[in-house]
Amino acid sequence: MRDRCHRRAGGGTRRAWRAAGATGRLLAFLALASPAGVSRLGAAEKAGAESPPPPRWERPPELHSASRMFESWKARVPPRPLLGGIHYVGTSGIAVYLIATPAGHILIDTSFDDTVPHVLAGIAQLGFDAKDIKLILSSHAHVDHVGGHARLQRHTGATIVASAADARLLASGGADDFSPFPLQLMRYAPVTADRIVTDGETVSLGGITLTAHLTPGHTAGATTWSTTVRHAGRVYAVVFLSSLSLVSGTRLLRNPRHPELVADYEQTFRRLAAMSCDVFFGFHVSPRLDELTAARGPNPFHDGETGWQAQLTAAERAFREQLAAERQAGEANPPRATH
Ligand SMILES: [Zn+2]
Repeated sequence: MRDRCHRRAGGGTRRAWRAAGATGRLLAFLALASPAGVSRLGAAEKAGAESPPPPRWERPPELHSASRMFESWKARVPPRPLLGGIHYVGTSGIAVYLIATPAGHILIDTSFDDTVPHVLAGIAQLGFDAKDIKLILSSHAHVDHVGGHARLQRHTGATIVASAADARLLASGGADDFSPFPLQLMRYAPVTADRIVTDGETVSLGGITLTAHLTPGHTAGATTWSTTVRHAGRVYAVVFLSSLSLVSGTRLLRNPRHPELVADYEQTFRRLAAMSCDVFFGFHVSPRLDELTAARGPNPFHDGETGWQAQLTAAERAFREQLAAERQAGEANPPRATH
């Protein structure tokens, strides 16, 4: 099921993906845990060290580092058309996608509250009226992706669409989450979802239909969206891939704040493996499609080191490595609440 991505478009956005290296380094902070913590723990115990470092799942992000990381994602970057009616209107580190249709527009994610002015400026720069936004969707209800929902809903009157679990998180303003991030960083203005979607449910506007794929793990209600667009005479299966990372400080096994976390991730990897994808857009990397439209060589969105399959494989490998490491650490490490 994993080879369903077909080669339909060419190009070499590898240069662009390499250009995203800075974001990648920032994301290393959010990287999935490795078993290195366990290895070090064992070595330290053998050496008789008094206080070996705890494994990554017991080291929640530190406030100032996390705050610096968030701030580094907020720089304004030029908006740009991508594929079909899809446009990038996000910041340097947080993707926001505008899908323009004749019946109004769809926005996927809104970024932080204080970066909404960048989003609005980008939409205007592309020649669209933000007040024509009819639907606001989200990848997952963390502050860096939905912190701007309340402000943008006030500005546009748009309908907010979310999965049931992320709707609960939206309603709590980010407070009702199992994330180990400091709570004061994760809060945002609470919003009420106007429409709840279940797995496989579709949302349509102006000839565009988006399908919700519930991909829980990063948040309990994380949602990956798929659609089909026509561009330069070709039809593309497009996936807006929600985050798959497990935030440092998050325990998989016996997580007191989210006991079903392992089952959630297992379900997510199964669902993503079954999806068709020609082009995927993430939410922490600014995509550049110049070389895709050049139509030469393999499609960089599903081939190569940063393609679709590579993304899924790397995420699942990291998940399984941490799971194995936690099992290896065994009962010696009782679960702790992170906040
Ligand atoms: Zn997140």
